Amino acid sequence: MNKPNKSKIDLLEEIKYLRTELASTKLTKEQRTAELYKSEERFALAMRGASDGLWDWDLESNEVYYSPRWKSMLGYNENELENNLDTWASLTHCDDKDFVLQKVHDYLSGKTSVFEVEMRMYHKSGHYIFIRSRAFKTMLGSSDVPARLIGTHVDITLRKKTEIFDRRNTNILEMIAKGITASKIYNEIGLLYEERNPGMRCSMLELEGETLLHGGAPSLPKEYCDSVNGLISGPDIGSCGTSTYTGKRVLVENIESDPKWASLKRYALPHGMRCCWSEPIKSSSGKILGAFGMYYDFPSLPNEDELNDLISAGRLTGIIMEREHNQKLIRNLAYTDKLTSLSSRAHLYLHLKSLIQKKPENRIPFSVLYIDLDNFKHINDSLGHDSGDYLLQEVAKRLKYISREVDFVSRLGGDEFCIVIRDIISSSHLAEIAQQYLEAISKPINFSGRKFIPTCSIGAARYPSDGSNLQTLLKAADTALYAAKDYGKNRFAFYNKELTRKAEHRFKVEQCLREAVDKNQLSLVYQPQVDINTGTIICVEALSRWEHPTLGHVSPTEFIPIAERIGMIQPLTEWALNTASEQSVSWKQAGFSSVRIAVNISPSHFLENDLVPLINRVISRTGLPATELKLEITESSIQTSKKNLSIFKELKQLGVLLAIDDFGTGYSSFASLKHLNVDFLKIDKHFIDDMLSDKKTLLLIKSIIEMGHNLGYKIIAEGIENTEQLNMLKELGCDNAQGYLFSKPVSAQGISNLLRNQTNN
Ligand code: C2E
Ligand code: CA
Ligand code: CA
Repeated sequence: MNKPNKSKIDLLEEIKYLRTELASTKLTKEQRTAELYKSEERFALAMRGASDGLWDWDLESNEVYYSPRWKSMLGYNENELENNLDTWASLTHCDDKDFVLQKVHDYLSGKTSVFEVEMRMYHKSGHYIFIRSRAFKTMLGSSDVPARLIGTHVDITLRKKTEIFDRRNTNILEMIAKGITASKIYNEIGLLYEERNPGMRCSMLELEGETLLHGGAPSLPKEYCDSVNGLISGPDIGSCGTSTYTGKRVLVENIESDPKWASLKRYALPHGMRCCWSEPIKSSSGKILGAFGMYYDFPSLPNEDELNDLISAGRLTGIIMEREHNQKLIRNLAYTDKLTSLSSRAHLYLHLKSLIQKKPENRIPFSVLYIDLDNFKHINDSLGHDSGDYLLQEVAKRLKYISREVDFVSRLGGDEFCIVIRDIISSSHLAEIAQQYLEAISKPINFSGRKFIPTCSIGAARYPSDGSNLQTLLKAADTALYAAKDYGKNRFAFYNKELTRKAEHRFKVEQCLREAVDKNQLSLVYQPQVDINTGTIICVEALSRWEHPTLGHVSPTEFIPIAERIGMIQPLTEWALNTASEQSVSWKQAGFSSVRIAVNISPSHFLENDLVPLINRVISRTGLPATELKLEITESSIQTSKKNLSIFKELKQLGVLLAIDDFGTGYSSFASLKHLNVDFLKIDKHFIDDMLSDKKTLLLIKSIIEMGHNLGYKIIAEGIENTEQLNMLKELGCDNAQGYLFSKPVSAQGISNLLRNQTNN
């Protein structure tokens, strides 16, 4: 019989039915009357003097007697309300009715032995109160048939409200502990006090600088909140604006007549608000963070309870406002790059995530520009970190200056920047923007009187076509940036799939290169350098070769830069120096005594502290005389920094010979050369290639040779492929020559053969 969640009608029907069923055990009318009388007496006695309300429900007639106290508890007088069950039903909170009737049913049917419920009932004045009702049934005579249900009502509103208040309060503290967003907690706090004080409406305003910002107000109309949001706190800005301004509690009894509300009452009065009390909210250190406001729809000042509530509401809200305030400070720290004041990497990721997580219908196309300064490390190393920082700040300013309001400019760290460009779809438009950034950056900058032109490379990737999530999108931009650098820097590149293939290949080469030395995959070939007049081999240059089982032959022009980048250049150079020196020693032992060995040293390795000790180690390990070893150092290494000069000096002190490789391709001047004590200048192959077809190139070569000689250097020309070039160089007075015309780079055995032929001739 017991089905939960039955509707009220069903349950009433069932209660009636239950009673008739049980009544089938007939009693005489006299018996019934006697029994009733007895129980009634008992009940009246028990209830005498109690302040409880009484009710008595005759189950047969369905009449209900409500005592005067029962009625007054709900705000009615003795003559009001009809004596039937509908009265009860109409006064009971609709969410509680069914549950109470279910309890009645269970009790009458004998399923439960006591009847006790708590329910909400409406007071005549509109609010509801909490009632606890207990009842017992009286039987017809000695039968099992219930005749009446007689019960009491006790007003437990106060206890119930305290209980709810405590529960809500605990819930709010839990929300604070869990770090739930402030706006949600503000609403809960508002409801907490509104529930305890029927008719009250609460608001919380945050103070940012001097501006009042809407924090929360669960029951105030949005229109009112909007008009208050953004007000500047001041001596007569309503109750809250005044309390944040003075730091004191402001109790306005009547909004309509109080001068503090003169300019604001037009916002409040239409929504019924008539009084407003405001408590300033302060941090633990006393800083004013906002204000808590309580409104009623009638003019009034707070009673003692309400005043206590106002004070405690202010304190409770203060806990969250202080947390918010501190979090904002921390966020600002984490989301701003200290050096440039641009957004930080963390902020960029957050921004991108918010763009990507938008619902498909709200998505906006955007592009990511990765910007990396060219040769920044070089500036930092040669001009010092202060200049480096200054350059970064200047670049940040330029980026910010030309970006639009909607675009997001951030610094990822080091010399890397990232800009998120909104709403740009066409490639040509994006290219135009990238070009603008390139131009903005490459304006001259002054470093303590010296003019310098910074440049950068830019990689562009578009969302969602180049990457549909944060990782793939940024990877695409990075890949494009790498390509821009690879194409020669100071330019931009768009991402495309081919770049990914290249990047994957590069990645594979990187991985394989790490074990190339250990797995003996590297070898050396040697190319002769001859005396230009006699053709005698006086030196051989060692050139590295890499044969990988699956990648096949990889050119040194590809793997040497990678080795530099991934930190493999030191072991590689050490291996080359050792192998070449051992080979040179064994040639000497074979009787070819007049041949030097030349080894290439990468510019990035040149600046490492271990170069001089490394050369020392190799010389003493292999027994090669230092004067037989020549180091070819590319032109980019020859700056006149202190460190550089001292390395050149130390190497010279060891006795090794030094050659400036690829001379003419870099930017060094003869002026800087005069500080360096080197032995050879090696004119780059490009000049030799063009010397016969281009007069200016020929002139350049001529002057390099002349000036070089004047400074005391010998001159080598590399990449000589034909006799015309050779004859011209002879005529210009060049000292040594190298190129396919004499020999391609060959194996050690090949060199042995060449040397043997030479001695035989
Ligand atoms: P590099 O030092 O300028 O070496 C000369 C390059 O020009 C070599 O290319 C050589 O084979 C090539 N070459 C020489 N004569 C001629 C010619 O007449 N015609 C043509 N077309 N080419 C000629 P390779 O061996 O491919 O080396 C390329 C670059 O890789 C080298 O340029 C050097 O910078 C670097 N490299 C090679 N081995 C090493 C090494 O062990 N250590 C370091 N740090 N760099 C190396
Ligand atoms: Ca070389
Ligand atoms: Ca060269």
